[in-house]
Amino acid sequence: MTATIIDGKAFAAKVRAQVAEHVQRLKDEHGLTPGLAVVLVGEDPASQVYVRSKGKQTVEVGMNSFEHKLPAETSEADLLALIEQLNADPAVHGILVQLPLPGHLDSDLVINAIDPAKDVDGFHISNVGLLGTGQKAMVPCTPLGCLMMLRDHHGSLSGMNAVVVGRSNIVGKPMAQLLLGDSCTVTIAHSRTRDLPDVLSRADIVVAAVGRPEMLRGEWLKPGATVIDVGINRIEGRNGLFGDCDFDSCAEVAGAITPVPGGVGPMTIACLLANTLTATCRANGLAEPQGLTA
Ligand code: NDP
Repeated sequence: MTATIIDGKAFAAKVRAQVAEHVQRLKDEHGLTPGLAVVLVGEDPASQVYVRSKGKQTVEVGMNSFEHKLPAETSEADLLALIEQLNADPAVHGILVQLPLPGHLDSDLVINAIDPAKDVDGFHISNVGLLGTGQKAMVPCTPLGCLMMLRDHHGSLSGMNAVVVGRSNIVGKPMAQLLLGDSCTVTIAHSRTRDLPDVLSRADIVVAAVGRPEMLRGEWLKPGATVIDVGINRIEGRNGLFGDCDFDSCAEVAGAITPVPGGVGPMTIACLLANTLTATCRANGLAEPQGLTA
């Protein structure tokens, strides 16, 4: 069997076009322009690339982009003061603090200072709780992107066996909550899981969020499974980016698979824009965009 490739790049372009259409409608009908504020502390090169890319795509869909670049030695008090200011600014509908923060700053404290209604990364403890209890939350962008691709591919996910490999707060745990919300039977695997191949052999859906290049092998999969590869890894001596799945062997057994690059990655920023749009609609008591939320 050769798997269908789930094209995240094309899907992300479709999501961005939908967002842009809604943004235009908000401008025309309500005089509203969604605004996303991104805060970057320090000079981490990967973070700088992400922030540039987020700013560019924000403007491309017609939103306002507010970038706040602060020196690495910024004090916690100054950072918290900026967040307070953004919380109070009616032109700002979404706030994202780029992680990781320099070591002297307490990430939990900073993230939990963001107004939950503007927390477009979905990392605030209130949003984590809302998602965990099946209430309307801001949902973390990467798992939201994975869910959108799965829904698009399968329609209903109800009753499917899903295995999420990885239990991080930003990917694994929220992914499992979302799959549960769509009535999957969910297993979360992690580094202490005994016999991962056996766990995977029953999975109709596999989401790999491990951070170990090419770890998951095709022989471990149930034939026809849908594989969402969240991993973004580098391998010394080889060019390019690699997923957590060994693509060639997995594509032989899976029914569908996301490539790396060009799978989950592009969906993450598209979902950030979708979340900013959702936050703008909620803040103004307007109907939320269909198909762009969990
Ligand atoms: P973390 O390092 O926070 O979590 C990794 C998880 O994998 C942990 O729960 C860990 O288990 C588990 N794990 C490690 N080794 C094994 C193993 N041998 N078998 C089973 N489970 C194992 O990573 P993130 O969740 O932040 O990211 C995961 C990957 O996704 C990375 O490659 C990252 O770059 C990528 N990523 C991609 C994004 C995108 O936009 N496409 C966004 C975010 C992340 P334990 O808890 O027991 O240690």
